[in-house]
Amino acid sequence: MSRQPITPEDGKLYEFTPTLEPAVTVDSGESLTVETLDSLEGAIRSDSDRLESIPDEVNAATGPIAVEGAEPGDVLAVDIEAIRLVEDAGRVVTVDGFGLLDGHDDIEAPRSRMTPVDGDAGTITFGDIDVAIDPCIGTIGVATRDDEPGYSTLVPHDHGGNLDTTDITAGNTVYFPVFQPGGLLAMGDCKAAMADGEMCGTGSEIATEIDLTVEVIEQPDFTLERPLVETADAWKPLASAETLEEACELANRDAIALLRNEHDLSGTEAYMLSSLVGGLEISQVVDPLVTVRNAVPKAHCGGPFQ
Ligand code: CA
Repeated sequence: MSRQPITPEDGKLYEFTPTLEPAVTVDSGESLTVETLDSLEGAIRSDSDRLESIPDEVNAATGPIAVEGAEPGDVLAVDIEAIRLVEDAGRVVTVDGFGLLDGHDDIEAPRSRMTPVDGDAGTITFGDIDVAIDPCIGTIGVATRDDEPGYSTLVPHDHGGNLDTTDITAGNTVYFPVFQPGGLLAMGDCKAAMADGEMCGTGSEIATEIDLTVEVIEQPDFTLERPLVETADAWKPLASAETLEEACELANRDAIALLRNEHDLSGTEAYMLSSLVGGLEISQVVDPLVTVRNAVPKAHCGGPFQ
């Protein structure tokens, strides 16, 4: 199967807005290979390189990719088939003013550590410690709602953006609400490995090639408010907000909506069921809005787009 290549030379953005101009237009059902830059665009190439502050432009997202026929009210499904590392090392950094333990006396910032890739072993190395390669896409999203000013690629929200979610990885599908014609998908900020929470503010930031297939789901009965990830065994709405509590409330609402779409339950009954199965997971706590997901097991939810 031939794949259309899309590179940062075709287009890249640093802000998701309601009025993005497509870099390329593809058909629904088309398979693509999207090249992404490392989130710091080569600023860190050795342990002695330091990032004094977060750049104004960070997390370059390749695109935007318009998908023919996508209209507001549709859902854009992005099936991630593979993420290949295309650098021989990633990098993990601390930056002053960023990260969960920012300002703590015993945490040094800025600091950088290159994480060389050993493709044969399937690992990156942090000093003499091997870490399994497990790539994910940090920033992925679509054009925002008409009534929103836009969000920099450092911020996650209902359009996606800087979600930094380990489940946005090969084998999984991410669903986005379409707010603007074409959807206007863009992505970048990939990691060779990242822990849930992304505590120090980065994963192992690295350039990649992503194989994916895009598909428009036309006007589903289910109203998708925010990004949703389908894994092998669960549906996971992704909610971003200023506090963990707010994000958890949104993700609980989303889980209730999924359960009520499937079962004949009152809101209270679905709320109670959501407290019994699956549950909340932390995506990231640093971006500066935080992102959580709420796993609804497929054993209890066949999915909202059937
Ligand atoms: Ca990120």
